[in-house]
Amino acid sequence: VGAVESRGSAWERLVAKAQREDVLAAAITAVAILLFAGIGMKVVPRAVYALMESHGGVDRVASTALLLNVALLLFSWRRYKDAIAERSRRVEAEERAEILSSRDQLTNLLVLNSISDTGNRTIEEARAQGQQVAMLVVNLDRFKNINDVYGHIAGDAVLRAVSDAIISTVPPEALCARIGADEFAVIFPFCESARETVADIAEHIVFRLREPVEINGVHVHGSASIGISRTGRDCGTIEGLLRRANIAMHTAKEIGADRAIWFDTSMESVLRARNEIESGLRRGVPLGEFVPYFQPQVDIDTGDICGLEALARWNHPAGGVVGPDLFIPVAEETGMIGDMFESVFRQALLEARLWDPSLILSVNVSPGQLKDPWLSHRILKVLTEVSFPPERLEIEITESSLFENLAVAQTIVTSLKNQGVRLALDDFGTGYSSLAHLRALPFDRIKIDRSFVQNMLKDPQSLAIVSAVTAMSRSLSVPVTAEGVEDGETLRMLREVGCDKAQGWHFGRPRSAEETRLILDAKGLLKQGLAPPSDETTITLGLDVGRAA
Ligand code: C2E
Ligand code: CA
Ligand code: CA
Repeated sequence: VGAVESRGSAWERLVAKAQREDVLAAAITAVAILLFAGIGMKVVPRAVYALMESHGGVDRVASTALLLNVALLLFSWRRYKDAIAERSRRVEAEERAEILSSRDQLTNLLVLNSISDTGNRTIEEARAQGQQVAMLVVNLDRFKNINDVYGHIAGDAVLRAVSDAIISTVPPEALCARIGADEFAVIFPFCESARETVADIAEHIVFRLREPVEINGVHVHGSASIGISRTGRDCGTIEGLLRRANIAMHTAKEIGADRAIWFDTSMESVLRARNEIESGLRRGVPLGEFVPYFQPQVDIDTGDICGLEALARWNHPAGGVVGPDLFIPVAEETGMIGDMFESVFRQALLEARLWDPSLILSVNVSPGQLKDPWLSHRILKVLTEVSFPPERLEIEITESSLFENLAVAQTIVTSLKNQGVRLALDDFGTGYSSLAHLRALPFDRIKIDRSFVQNMLKDPQSLAIVSAVTAMSRSLSVPVTAEGVEDGETLRMLREVGCDKAQGWHFGRPRSAEETRLILDAKGLLKQGLAPPSDETTITLGLDVGRAA
């Protein structure tokens, strides 16, 4: 910005100087003409008279003044011509600068600022002819990866290829612009009766952008997500079209990318809800509105609670408790996951300090957090501040988060393990379920995803998977917890298969810190001398495992 500003003021200084020179040249010319008129009127008749009558002398002083005046006139004429040439050069340069600022230098497409006026004119013209205008916002999927892996020169080549593909696919009258690093917009008029052609054009772009781009003999594969909007009763400006097409494009990304979808008003309410969650996170995390609930994990043989998993909940100020499926993805997307985690984690540790020292506290770490090289440092810092023994903490991570960045995950995990923290592989079976992952990191426990456990009784394949995972973990000497156990029959089957721990509604749903304290107290699992804070009779205790089995 500083560079642009200083370039701007240098240009202004240049223009001001040229204007000053113009005024000077005009002034000199005017004075020269006046002088010429004054002196000329005096000298020329005398000179003519002297020639005709050939007597008397010409006034030498006046003649010299006249000659000087002619020279001055010639000089100022020259200066005037220079000034005209200078001005036309300036106008040309200004025009060139305007073209440069309205065009993207890499692709030669229009830029965002320049589509507003032209686009709104297109909308007016289309309206006059009874047509509508469609806008496509084309965003490349995972373009950052292309830059990271192949370098920026290859990235630029891909962008040029994309721009060529778009131009050759859209109607000739379409306005095409590059509106972001890896984002393009296309605007064109269409007849209501030919609405499918808009979708066809978008589909065709998606198809074209799946084709690999060859750069220095390497085939770079990419894809794009497209949001489509169109003018209508409630949307009649480029800004409106752009906002809607953007919302649709983000929805296309969310549901798997590599596709084109039309804007729908329901998307707006989804976006509004998401924004509300985002501002809720920003406001509520410092206020302690995000709290841990606890769900017991039970030893299948003895029926004893051996640990509790902390699951985040949002105590919404308007009343009600919001589950993590709604706010964890937003926290991840907005980078607030770290702050939310730290707040919930600290509260969970403070609560777990009140429990029997035999109880393990499990906490979930999400994929975004495993990219933060400072994660282990942050976790260990809170452990120290709260004086919680690392051996009583188990970190649950999912396979998908490992896949995203195994090297960083490995460093984080190794540093935590060195301090004595335990490690569990969460949702096993839903990710890549690879033995390589199991070997790459020193897991203390595998948690079989509840989708298999819940289908064990009716689906032989799920049963086979649970048996195989249990057998495999036994051979690797890694114990297994089955998630989502909802009934005694499933528990019986798990015992047969050889699973050693279980978690699920059968043993108790996730409960607030206060409720958990009462449940643990009833089982003699609170630290000696800690009285439960409130009326026990109002709380439904978790089922007794022995009885349930
Ligand atoms: P998860 O780690 O797999 O947690 C288990 C989920 O299964 C919990 O959902 C729990 O309430 C639910 N569940 C437990 N037993 C049963 C059962 O018998 N039947 C059924 N149908 N469900 C059962 P919840 O609390 O809604 O959490 C959902 C997910 O959100 C968690 O899945 C975890 O991945 C994530 N999550 C929760 N808290 C946090 C957190 O503090 N940080 C992060 N990063 N993720 C969290
Ligand atoms: Ca978990
Ligand atoms: Ca899980």
